[in-house]
Amino acid sequence: MRIVVRNSPTHVLTELSDREAVALRAWHGNAASNADAAIALSVIRRVKVMGGWIECDCLEAQHQPLLAPIRQERTFTLRRLTPKDNAPGRHAERPNHALACPFHVDKDASPALIDRSYHLRPLPKSERSYIDALPAIPDRLADVSGHEPPRSSERNDRPSRLGGVLWRMLDRAGTNVIPPLQDGVDYTLANQLSRLRSAARELRVLRTWTLNALLSTWGPDYWNPTSRWQQLLASSRRDWPEGLRRTGFMLLFSTSVSTQAIMPASTSRTIEILSKVRQPLRGDPANRGPFLTLLNVDFQDDDEGPVRAVQAYAQPVYNGDTLFPVESGFERDVSHLLFWLQQSFFDAAPELRVSIIKPLFAMETPIGLCRPDFVLEVTYRDQPPRRLLVEAFGMETEEYRDAKEKTIPRMKHLGPIFAVSPEDLTEANSERTGRRLQAWVVDKIGDG
Ligand SMILES: [Zn+2]
Repeated sequence: MRIVVRNSPTHVLTELSDREAVALRAWHGNAASNADAAIALSVIRRVKVMGGWIECDCLEAQHQPLLAPIRQERTFTLRRLTPKDNAPGRHAERPNHALACPFHVDKDASPALIDRSYHLRPLPKSERSYIDALPAIPDRLADVSGHEPPRSSERNDRPSRLGGVLWRMLDRAGTNVIPPLQDGVDYTLANQLSRLRSAARELRVLRTWTLNALLSTWGPDYWNPTSRWQQLLASSRRDWPEGLRRTGFMLLFSTSVSTQAIMPASTSRTIEILSKVRQPLRGDPANRGPFLTLLNVDFQDDDEGPVRAVQAYAQPVYNGDTLFPVESGFERDVSHLLFWLQQSFFDAAPELRVSIIKPLFAMETPIGLCRPDFVLEVTYRDQPPRRLLVEAFGMETEEYRDAKEKTIPRMKHLGPIFAVSPEDLTEANSERTGRRLQAWVVDKIGDG
């Protein structure tokens, strides 16, 4: 990335360092550490002072996408410049960012329903322990004499913050790891939710309130003002600073979700959400559930009313017992194959231990970040563990496949890859695929 002259991007002012580029991308993807956020802010301020624009470097093309620094009241942000910002015909040299770039502009004008860049999530894991509450309800009109209000498209296709919170909880609780069957873990929804609650105890919303204290996992609490959850939210009232809205959270296993509602398994009632429910964009929408859903609630505009669900993120999961995260119906089928593999080795070769991992965050390689679909960690007796990758090549858009193709060479640095396509899992082929995968794993252990 580099800083170029405003309205004359062929003139370069200065190059940004790799660290600065990483920080900007992490900030835009809501995955910035405090250090990233500080670096991103200083870069945007510097570009503003220099009267420049930022030229991205995500395309292999003559013209790169451009980002303009803007200052709103006391905040700085970046506006993504696209041809439609200006008169038709002008600025054809302003391409959209690559699909894998966090600055990619979602052409869909409706508020984001999906995370378009979720599949790469090429972002360092945030080490922050604080969870964002809802901002205060605006009680002033913006100054209309200045420039026009920020266009909604600027931010609405950033990855969901709630999604980020949910992945951090799943990661801390180890919900994305199925340990070897030799460990004899007993899977129930109640056990998994209680592990997630323990993880939520390590995350804070306010200095004096952990995420766990403001979290319910029981759907009927939504309508019950005398529930312990709502009572705690009531007693937290005096601790909320001016700039934040009193916010509660619900973590609900849900059989299905619709555009603006979720159907928790723990109640026959439906929770309507004020904004659209967000979820990963992948595979057939009709075949994505069940879900683990994280939503946040407030108490209406006056902070006095009944609980109101404001935002929600729905993470597809394998089933309600494991809550193992997947991103499509096809990934659920691939998980099923991996669970079968784990069981078959447990039965036939108990000295072979197999863990199944669904990476929730990007992994580092010498040539960049990537996020494999599945990682197997295989240990034979007292030999060191061997890392093997399983990639689900589902029915995806061409754009998606192109983005994925780019990360395959990176994944090869992490371990050998076994590819699974929908054709491999048809009724006629699945048994053969299972045997082929078994033989591949045995072969790789022999190599190691
Ligand atoms: Zn870009």
